[in-house]
Amino acid sequence: MELTTWTNPDPGAIPPRVGDFLRSLPGPTAIAVHGKDRSRSRVLVTLSHGNEPSGLEAVHRWLRSGRTPVVDVLVLFGSVEAARAEPMFYFRMLPGHRDLNRCFRPPFADATGQLAEAMLHRIHAAKPEAVLDLHNTSGSNPAFSVTIGDSPEQRALSSLFAQQMIVTDLRLGSLMEQDFGCPIVTIEAGGSQDDTAAGVCDAGLEAYFYRDEVFADAGEVSLLEHPYRLELQPHARIDFADHALPDRDLTMRADIERFNFAPVPPSEPLGWASGLGSLRASTGRDTRDAREFFRIEDGRIYTRCTLRMFMATTRADIAASDCLFYFVREG
Ligand SMILES: [Zn+2]
Repeated sequence: MELTTWTNPDPGAIPPRVGDFLRSLPGPTAIAVHGKDRSRSRVLVTLSHGNEPSGLEAVHRWLRSGRTPVVDVLVLFGSVEAARAEPMFYFRMLPGHRDLNRCFRPPFADATGQLAEAMLHRIHAAKPEAVLDLHNTSGSNPAFSVTIGDSPEQRALSSLFAQQMIVTDLRLGSLMEQDFGCPIVTIEAGGSQDDTAAGVCDAGLEAYFYRDEVFADAGEVSLLEHPYRLELQPHARIDFADHALPDRDLTMRADIERFNFAPVPPSEPLGWASGLGSLRASTGRDTRDAREFFRIEDGRIYTRCTLRMFMATTRADIAASDCLFYFVREG
């Protein structure tokens, strides 16, 4: 998968509909837009996952506006092929391929790894003062950021989009773990179906592209530190329903997304299972037996203490291949 570069695309030549724009891309694409101050640059990576359109949609609106950013802007669209495979914006990655946002570390052997390596080279070459990686969550969520550190610059970048910042020890090979010699944050702008995600992206990018000093005038963010990631063991079967399903190791509530960022008390059932052996919880540094945080009573799954969870999805394929959700102990 080649990474093609477009420089200063003509706003009048950008198709008005985002689907047509996506189809017009040559594949994975870097779009360089020259700014008023050519001595500095900022990078935006988005569409690393094909089912997360909000960043692409916001960039599409911005490119059509034809406005000159304050500094050079480099936008990278990664998973273009996955996004435009039918049904459009359904596949996180193409079937049989690795998740691009797990491929930003060696070995770069396969096609996805080579694309990740090309993106890394392109970002390094831009010598940016900041890097943003803009995503949607699979399920419904308010906007939040994810970082591997807590610096004033990371808080400032986060605050352009979100009030919650999650600091994690997890190392998965994602873009935000890489060192570009400048601050980097991942933004989860909300679920791709959430009406609020477009406004979050537009307002955040307006600040990111037009503020002369992007780290000044930072808003407040509240921190959630070192969340556990609840993962399904390989070959375990999961689904989502409003009752226990036969032949599944785990049936989670179909409305589980409503708990994203809300406290979940120990009295609230989350689903059905006969045991918790198919689950594990890990912060990256620290892997725990899921039974430390969850319990089974009368065939239902409950938390042991109040937890705050986020990034819960009801896509069984994503829950199985990525994770069910993230959580921290409340208080
Ligand atoms: Zn994503």
